[in-house]
Amino acid sequence: MTNSLRGFRDILPPDSELFARIEAAARVVFGLYGYQELRIPTLEQKELFVKSTGDTTDIVEKEMYAFTDGGGREVALRPEGTPGVVRAYIQNNLAQTGRNGKYFYLGSMFRAERPQAGRYREFTQIGAEYIGNPAPAADAESISMLVRFLEKAGVAECSVVINSLGCAECRKAYREILLGFLRGKAEKLCEPCRGRIERNPLRALDCKTDGPWLTSEAPKRALCPACETHFSGTQRLLSAAAVAYQVNTSLVRGLDYYTGTVFEVRSGALGSQDAVCGGGRYDDLVKSMGGPAAPAIGWAVGLDRMAMLLKDKPAPDTAPRAFVIAAAKEAGDRAFALLTALRADGISADFSNFELSLKSQMRSAGKSGAAFALLIGEDELKAGTAAVKPMKEGGEQFTVPLAEAPVKIKELLRGI
Ligand code: AMP
Repeated sequence: MTNSLRGFRDILPPDSELFARIEAAARVVFGLYGYQELRIPTLEQKELFVKSTGDTTDIVEKEMYAFTDGGGREVALRPEGTPGVVRAYIQNNLAQTGRNGKYFYLGSMFRAERPQAGRYREFTQIGAEYIGNPAPAADAESISMLVRFLEKAGVAECSVVINSLGCAECRKAYREILLGFLRGKAEKLCEPCRGRIERNPLRALDCKTDGPWLTSEAPKRALCPACETHFSGTQRLLSAAAVAYQVNTSLVRGLDYYTGTVFEVRSGALGSQDAVCGGGRYDDLVKSMGGPAAPAIGWAVGLDRMAMLLKDKPAPDTAPRAFVIAAAKEAGDRAFALLTALRADGISADFSNFELSLKSQMRSAGKSGAAFALLIGEDELKAGTAAVKPMKEGGEQFTVPLAEAPVKIKELLRGI
């Protein structure tokens, strides 16, 4: 027996149904905001992630599934969706041909992290990107769509935390101040932070080891007037959209391309891996990747963690409504036709094996959770009927002409 790889899992029913429910909620809510789906490749040139996500980030530096393919190309399984969306936006000239710069994607991401509850090496993200609008309304719309989506999917008790990293100018000024502070504290920093503070001092604030103490001790960032106006405008609009949020000035996010607004959604119910969603503005990324000057904002939610939060919610009932049984040797063809007719009429229906005993087929009917069993035995075969047996205890069995069976079952289901 060859098992699955560590950190790669099967998503079985009823969890798979939860995933489908979340995806359906996403499609409904995103449609209200004018987003269209982009289906992007799982495998890209490695360079795409190195140049966008950033080569000092954990995702790229330590966790990427990168390899040389048979043709000698340096490739990588996508660790996140934004670089692929931006590449697609530029490569397909969506700035000219697209409708409004609003795109969502859905699919597997890959990171070779140490697996634990809520952290896998293959996981599913749904992400939304809004490219081309620099105004605070774009930030507020993006965040409020996220919150409405979480609500629609049934995720409650989440908190939205926001911050602004400022523009390149603000960050440059803060970078110098922070770097000075970090150099003075070098002996207190963990090995990886010490190695990267000169290249990317901001990342230390996001480090799992050093982040907590740096948050209270390091100098706080200051924003230039334009960034301050943008950030306060975003907050005003979030309030107008009835979105509850907290400002946390130590939220930095782990990726290189963020500028301005950044945010996270967390849930205490998740334990140590408490982030459900992360996102932010990336005003310079599209241009730096060779596209037009197109400011943008986006986020990605983790479906695996959302599904954990929905575990206690009743799973949608996917049991078949009807279960068809052939109770006589020659009744199999007729039973199969009845199964077909029921489904054609929109009634979910199942069967087991018409060649097995009545007892065995009844056992399968019970296991299926169906509301009604429809039996065709010797008598029904002769009379052109089906016997309908309600599976609930005490239900009276009765007979219907075969042609009327779907209508009758529908009528009965309405009464359940
Ligand atoms: P990030 O792209 O790191 O901002 O992650 C966005 C969201 O994806 C997180 O808030 C998580 O919900 C989810 N996520 C990230 N990494 C993992 C992982 N290894 N396993 C499961 N979910 C993850």
